[in-house]
Amino acid sequence: MLIGQGIDAHRFAPERRLVLGGIHIPHELGLAAHSDGDVVIHALCDALLGAAGLGDIGRHFPDTDAAFKDIDSRILLRRVMAALTERGLAVHNVDLTIAAQAPKLAPYRDAMREVLAGDLGCPIERLNVKATTTERMGFTGRGEGIAAFAVVLLAE
Ligand code: MG
Repeated sequence: MLIGQGIDAHRFAPERRLVLGGIHIPHELGLAAHSDGDVVIHALCDALLGAAGLGDIGRHFPDTDAAFKDIDSRILLRRVMAALTERGLAVHNVDLTIAAQAPKLAPYRDAMREVLAGDLGCPIERLNVKATTTERMGFTGRGEGIAAFAVVLLAE
């Protein structure tokens, strides 16, 4: 078994679509980023790369590369997963936590699980998504942005 963790945070920005865990979520603000700003997938990619000892998302997909401008983060996730599969690694389970004061994410939780479990090739029961506010404390609590935390276990 190989364990990995990933953390990401992005700032809210106007005139951007909010995409979390591969799901478009109706909200007045999206997240500023070179890619589509999917903090959940970015944290997940870092956890997967970390468990495999393959560095981090910035090394594989630099934000200075025009090829990744506004890219669907699921494409990055599938590329990370392909690199792991090539090395004989499979996902055992994933636990994701999203810290956001708004919007309410509970209605989208299962849709995220379905999309992400599909991209990782693991059963939906092995992919957990949690959401929390931070009680109006810190940058997420003030509504400045969203943070995501991922823990993964890989099996050889
Ligand atoms: Mg990011």
